[in-house]
Amino acid sequence: MSSVKENCQEIERKLGLSLKKVNRERSSVQVIAVTKSVSSEQAIAVIEEGYTHLAENRPEGLEAKLEELNDLQLVWHYIGNLQTRKVKKVINKIDYFHALDRLALAEEIEKRAQKRISCFVQVNVTGEVSKSGVSPDELDEFISNLSKYSKIKVVGLMTMAPLNAEETVVRTAFAHLRGLQQTIQEKSFSHAPCTELSMGMSKDYTIAAEEGATFIRIGTSFFE
Ligand SMILES: *Cc1c(COP(=O)(O)O)cnc(C)c1O
Repeated sequence: MSSVKENCQEIERKLGLSLKKVNRERSSVQVIAVTKSVSSEQAIAVIEEGYTHLAENRPEGLEAKLEELNDLQLVWHYIGNLQTRKVKKVINKIDYFHALDRLALAEEIEKRAQKRISCFVQVNVTGEVSKSGVSPDELDEFISNLSKYSKIKVVGLMTMAPLNAEETVVRTAFAHLRGLQQTIQEKSFSHAPCTELSMGMSKDYTIAAEEGATFIRIGTSFFE
C-alpha cells in the first residue's frame, strides 16, 4: 500500500502522458476523487493534494462526508444508481448528477430540486443487460424528452466501460460515447449543451483521457 500522496503523483504522471499523446491540456480534464469506499480522513489526504471534486454513490455516504468535510470548499458529484424515492435526500446537496437514465428520475428531480442540476445522461454503450443506462438507439429521444424539465441541464454523457475488457473494446466504447456526445452537442439544445464526457475509472482512465474524457472518476487508484 502506497501513500495517497504517491498515488496522486502516479495518477498525474500517467494522465499527463496520455493527454500529451493527444495534445490535450491537463486543465481540460477534471479528476473526480471517488470517496465511496474510504473515510473522511482519507478524503482529506486527497483534498490536501489539491483535488476539490469528490464523488459518492450512496445517500448515506454523501451525507456523512458532507457533515465531516463541511468547512471545505468542494464540488460534489453523485455517481451510480439512485432510487427515485431517494432523490430528495441527495439532489439539493450535489453539484453534478452522473446517472440520469430514466424519465421517472427526471420527473422526481424536477419535483425536488431547488435549483437547476447539472446532469450527465448515463449511456449503456456496450448494451450489457446487467448495466443501467440509456441505449444509444434511444438516446436522442430521451434527451429531447428532457427539455420539459426546467431543473435539468444535460451537461454531458457518462458511461462505464465493460469490466475486464480488452483495451480495444474499452477504447471503442469511449469513442462511441464521444460520437454520441458530439451529435447531441451539434443540435444546440438549450436544455442539453452536452459538452462534457464523464468516463474513465482506475483501470481505464488513461484510455478515457485519450478518447476525450472531460471528467474522470477515480477511486481505487487514489487509495490503494
Ligand atoms: C466506484 C466508481 C468509480 C471509481 O471506481 P474505481 O475503479 O475505484 O476507480 C467510478 N465511477 C462509478 C460510477 C463508480 O461506481
